[in-house]
Amino acid sequence: MQTIETYNFKNKKALVRVDFNVPLDEQLNITDDTRIKAAIPTLKKILKDGGSVIIMSHLGRPKNIPEDKFSLKHIVPSLSKLLGVEVKFSNDCIGAATKVMSDALKPGEVLLLENLRFHAEETKGSVSFAKELASLGDVYVNDAFGTAHRAHASTTIVAQFFPHDKLFGYCMASELTSISNLFTNPKRPLTAILGGAKVSGKIAIIENLMDKVDNLIIGGGMAYTFIKAKGGNIGSSLVEEDKIETALNVIEAAKKKGVKLYIPTDTAIADAFNNDANKKFCAINEIPSGWLGLDIGPETEKEFAKVIESSGSILWNGPMGVFEMSNFEHGTKVVADAIVSATAKGAYSLVGGGDSVAAINKYNLADKVSYVSTGGGAMLEYIEGKELPGVKAIQEDVEKIIK
Ligand code: AMP
Repeated sequence: MQTIETYNFKNKKALVRVDFNVPLDEQLNITDDTRIKAAIPTLKKILKDGGSVIIMSHLGRPKNIPEDKFSLKHIVPSLSKLLGVEVKFSNDCIGAATKVMSDALKPGEVLLLENLRFHAEETKGSVSFAKELASLGDVYVNDAFGTAHRAHASTTIVAQFFPHDKLFGYCMASELTSISNLFTNPKRPLTAILGGAKVSGKIAIIENLMDKVDNLIIGGGMAYTFIKAKGGNIGSSLVEEDKIETALNVIEAAKKKGVKLYIPTDTAIADAFNNDANKKFCAINEIPSGWLGLDIGPETEKEFAKVIESSGSILWNGPMGVFEMSNFEHGTKVVADAIVSATAKGAYSLVGGGDSVAAINKYNLADKVSYVSTGGGAMLEYIEGKELPGVKAIQEDVEKIIK
């Protein structure tokens, strides 16, 4: 398989799928350019080799027609600055005018195409649309891990038109490596910490992790369904009645497979879902009626931290409580600190999934863990053990994809 590091882009037009789905304010200024910055190493490598770049991305959720607020033209100034190259812009991502612009590109030049999702064909995965995109470049680079779980035209279908010239960009490659680092010969014990609101959102991950981890820590809103399953009183805490059976199955499976399952023993409770509500601590299976659990308690914090700090590898997805409220963030902060301290002692730690990334950033600890995945849904599906179409499309054998 080709890699971005070894591929020579000299005199090639590289068609690069990036994730420039950045937040814009009312005045259409970029409020967070992390995703643009993330693509720069890949783009610079191509330019340094003597290639030219044609960039494709989506932005926001347009309704399959052009809308100014979702135009990628708003990205041009920032991208030009970060690349140190005047970026050209095409008002469409396909069509005759776009083809003329891409044909005219010289080595060292960069062309940004308009939002792919102005065409319904993108998310439908249209082959003819993908073929038109493919006609613009000589080599296809996918550097958009965040959309790798979607079989869209630009993320998956387009790859078949580059049987010998398709590869991952640096971002995508490092996301994939960081996840496989965790599951291929991990330093043991391997501990997964799962939190967040619901069991239903995490069950596929739990099932897949059961064959891989030594320790499984469960916190956050989903823990109360486990406590109820075990016959505890959980007051008005978050619960999924239809997942009680699932929770019992998880407890059983952990026993069978020799996975040590850690469920909170105490909890911070409040008399309303509110930061300023009355707060106290109690055993997690003795929550009085009218009260609800919003964070793990001090005894649980200690136990979780001990397990985490003696781990060789760690995966963290989901907060331990309602960390957005300052009175109920303590458990999440303790877990984050324990991961940092384990990492300092040589553990490999991967933090991924929306809210745990938000938490690690809130405490300014992102550079103190081994890897923070920005993949969101794609990362979760990968951990669930699903094959991501965007990854498969690059890895797949030439023979299999040419029909
Ligand atoms: P998820 O998207 O499933 O990872 O869930 C993240 C959300 O779970 C965050 O917004 C937290 O506030 C919320 N959460 C964590 N613990 C609790 C809890 N005990 N009760 C209600 N919501 C919670």
